[in-house]
Amino acid sequence: MGKQTHYDVIIIGGGVVGTAILRTLARFRLASALLEKAVEVGWGVTKANSGIVHSGFHSDPGTWKTKLSVRGNSMFDELCDELDVPFKRNGMMMVARNPEEEEILHRYYHQGLENGVEGLEILDKQTLHQLEPNLSQEITQALRAPSGGIVLPFELASAQAENAMANGAHVHTEVEVTGISHDGAKFVITTNTGDTFTATYLVNSAGLFADELARMCGVDAQPIIPRKGEEYLFDLRVGKIVNHTIFPVPTPNSKGILVIPTVEGNLMIGPTALELPYKDDVTTTAQGFDEIFTSTQRLVPKLNRRDIITSFAGVRAGSPTGDFIFQTSHGGKGLHLMGIESPGLTAAPAIAEHVLGMLQDAGLNGPIKQDFNPRRPRVIRFNELTDTEKEKVIQANPLYAHVICRCETITEGEIVDAIRRGAKTVDGVKFRTRAGMGRCQGGFCTPHVVSILARELGVSPLEITKRGGDSHLLAAEAKAFLKGGGLHD
Ligand SMILES: Cc1cc2nc3c(=O)[nH]c(=O)nc-3n(C[C@H](O)[C@H](O)[C@H](O)COP(=O)(O)OP(=O)(O)OC[C@H]3O[C@@H](n4cnc5c(N)ncnc54)[C@H](O)[C@@H]3O)c2cc1C
Repeated sequence: MGKQTHYDVIIIGGGVVGTAILRTLARFRLASALLEKAVEVGWGVTKANSGIVHSGFHSDPGTWKTKLSVRGNSMFDELCDELDVPFKRNGMMMVARNPEEEEILHRYYHQGLENGVEGLEILDKQTLHQLEPNLSQEITQALRAPSGGIVLPFELASAQAENAMANGAHVHTEVEVTGISHDGAKFVITTNTGDTFTATYLVNSAGLFADELARMCGVDAQPIIPRKGEEYLFDLRVGKIVNHTIFPVPTPNSKGILVIPTVEGNLMIGPTALELPYKDDVTTTAQGFDEIFTSTQRLVPKLNRRDIITSFAGVRAGSPTGDFIFQTSHGGKGLHLMGIESPGLTAAPAIAEHVLGMLQDAGLNGPIKQDFNPRRPRVIRFNELTDTEKEKVIQANPLYAHVICRCETITEGEIVDAIRRGAKTVDGVKFRTRAGMGRCQGGFCTPHVVSILARELGVSPLEITKRGGDSHLLAAEAKAFLKGGGLHD
């Protein structure tokens, strides 16, 4: 017999949206918990996207996407400051190369004004090339939105969860919801572990799978449309080729293929937008690469395929209505978030505010926690410190003198800190610290990360996985090697 635990509110799904909701609820004296099937939060769509905090000129006026992305965008400075998550308002530019595209550009300018996007301007050829000298000379006009930004989506999700937990909320990972019923007073949630959770209020924020969970609650949910997007990442060396995030004029089902500076200083190109019948295809393809490279080279001719160091794909939870869906069940006590496609990352903090309002309308009532602490302890990012700061940090903790990832200069101190904040796997360390994200893609540091994880978690290196489940990195044959003394520098 598994355990049974009761909460006032349970959130299913630990993406950037679910963790934002958990942190919002942690401001109140309520027992709140999040259930996530992956080994860590942030590993769904949240892990694999473009990381853009959109300004809000892309979507139609009056839609949830517009209302919540414009509001969400305005919340990012405070949110990322409180959580110490890197965020930069680098601005967005939508570019046109002929009179037809210029006309479309002007339509988005007016739509942006109607949506309440601040600071929008149309730039002529000379001005835009002064700001972005590496853009193609074919580009004749640009719509600039200075409020557009870039953020690390995984770090935001894990920081939101960490801060919510520090304020009393619970996060249960490796817990997959397999059934939901309602006994008249509360939701009864069964899981793959055999444990049962009960809750008075339920928020289904399960991304691509939210339609399936909604149906478990009796909601006649339209199927989510999986839409894959491939992305390609360049070496840090070419990271400064553009400053703004560069958009072409959009296509009917996506914002087009973009050139995206990342907040870590790399450059990324993508994504494609390919509708699929299944939710788990995260392969990258030669065809996807050709499509992305050809279109982005027309924006920035200097892009060189030799500078690409890795690729990934994410699957959008495409909305059957084209907008975010907030469907209720059980008199509003069940709330189902569906079709949280782009700009779901941008909208996440505002979605959390909206969800709180909907739950309160359905009767959720908890006093505000006077001692809520919105701040997460600061993360030491060693390679961003001055020499004097580095010396101080090393004096306090000599593990910061030991560089583990040479490509990105990530120290053992940072890896240990990431593990203490919740990293359990090699990818968990990689996404929190960048160890393994550089030119050699973990070729040098992975064995060291495995042995630090094993030491800190008090388990055998054989148990350490890349991303949970059966993604073990060492085969049984490694036992003999480890018995013989393991790894040395
Ligand atoms: C290629 C691409 C590019 C994008 N670019 C941008 C962008 O630049 N800007 C932007 O604003 N948005 C962007 N988006 C959209 C954005 O990534 C999503 O809107 C956002 O991440 C959605 O977060 P989420 O929390 O709803 O979903 P997810 O991150 O998928 O979280 C849902 C979670 O639910 C868990 N789960 C599912 N089923 C169960 C179950 N039965 N039991 C327990 N847990 C379960 C999953 O494991 C997952 O962790 C992009 C998306 C893609 C694919």
